[in-house]
Amino acid sequence: MELIFKLGAPGRRGVTLPKCDVPRHSDNDLPATLRRSAPAGLPEVSELEAVRHFTLLSRQNMGVDTHFYPLGSCTMKYNPKINERLSALPGFTDQHPLLPQLPEGGALCQGSLEALYETERLLSDLMGFAATTLQPMAGANGELTAITMFAAYHKSRGDERRRIMLVPDAAHGTNPASAAMAGFESRDIPSNPEGDVDLEGLQAMLGPEVAGIMLTCPNTLGFFDHNVVKVIEMVHQAGALAYCDGANFNAIVGRVRPGDLGFDAMHVNVHKTFSTPHGGGGPGAGPVGVCERLVPFLPKSRIVKDADGTYRLEYNYPQSIGYIAPFYGNFSVLLRTYVYLLMCGREGFRRISENAVLNANYLRERLAPYYEQKYQRSCMHECVLSASRQSAKGVRALDIAKALLDVGFHAPTIYFPLIVPEAMMIEPTETESKATIDAFCEVMIAIAKAVETDPDSVKRSPQTMPIGRMDEVAAARNPVLASL
Ligand SMILES: *Cc1c(COP(=O)(O)O)cnc(C)c1O
Repeated sequence: MELIFKLGAPGRRGVTLPKCDVPRHSDNDLPATLRRSAPAGLPEVSELEAVRHFTLLSRQNMGVDTHFYPLGSCTMKYNPKINERLSALPGFTDQHPLLPQLPEGGALCQGSLEALYETERLLSDLMGFAATTLQPMAGANGELTAITMFAAYHKSRGDERRRIMLVPDAAHGTNPASAAMAGFESRDIPSNPEGDVDLEGLQAMLGPEVAGIMLTCPNTLGFFDHNVVKVIEMVHQAGALAYCDGANFNAIVGRVRPGDLGFDAMHVNVHKTFSTPHGGGGPGAGPVGVCERLVPFLPKSRIVKDADGTYRLEYNYPQSIGYIAPFYGNFSVLLRTYVYLLMCGREGFRRISENAVLNANYLRERLAPYYEQKYQRSCMHECVLSASRQSAKGVRALDIAKALLDVGFHAPTIYFPLIVPEAMMIEPTETESKATIDAFCEVMIAIAKAVETDPDSVKRSPQTMPIGRMDEVAAARNPVLASL
């Protein structure tokens, strides 16, 4: 497709306003140094050209609103449109972040503060923690926030040797990255043959230099660690803290509270579990819940409710790790979360995790005769299959992913987790019907059969996409980011 800059013609406009017949201020109000010296390089197109351009662009993409999107570890589920409507109410969107909070200033944002306060309270309750901060802007930002609090906690006790963060090899890739960002040295713990943390391996690593463990729960194999309580106990006995990467909370929400298992902190991706859309990488939010002993270290500001029922942001927390986000995080994302929390209620969340787990296991069972599974056990919200049998015939996970695109399914996550060869990580999510999951399984089965009879037919896909196979090496080595 052409870039929009190649469409239209000089002087062409989407709308033409009548000539201004009152004095204009703006020309003189802006200091000369801030004024544009040349016109902005905007495309000059008619309204129809603009509408067609963007509509065609959107049709070249796959999204949850158009296709089944089983991208493991990403929870690309359906997000109710009512969230969008309510979070876009002008009463919310027209607010300036510096509006006076308190009655003497006119209390112009009490409603917004109340919505945030309640969201925190409901999330704390679901996760089983003493308090929650809504500030982190994404999952990885939540991880960083939490382990920065771990560092502050150890420091407050004069225990400054603890510079190691343990990260099991079935953790999400952001975990070791966050550990490094927070100044820790991350050390891998191997998984045992069942896909759980290897307890002996863990014991061997624990010591006075270990600050904590970051446990993706469920892990990236889609498993809930059989020994999670034991792991946390061992970590605590060594004087370290336990962090739960709960990005994919939809696997357990309403049934298990990570705080009750003994975790000290946890983040949840509201753009996965709590139904805010996250195509294209954002925006999102990664609220963090903490146990009682970490409360003093929470980022500031925090929302408090005074005895008279008014809400305000409080900044006076001397042990706080400080600011994580400007103002109070991604407000409109958090509003969608609030709406979803109220909509679902406790019973609703139980059904969500039940369906997420049921759907993934149904899919896993149906595909078991056709694709290898490294670990023989039931999964949580996602399952990891392997294309190792197919790769013996020359068809790799990448080829299968491309073949799925041709028949209208977004590809699953591939080559992750790293500990499964030719991995295909599939998350059907709780919002898909059995009919859709069956249709996907039938296509996966047809591909497995095609690999037996005509492997080249799979390797030739995709045939129907706007772009076929890219030269990925050239794209990485010699990227052409714009061609104006
Ligand atoms: C998605 C995900 C993350 C990272 O979340 P972002 O919002 O993309 O930063 C971290 N951990 C797990 C397990 C995830 O699935």
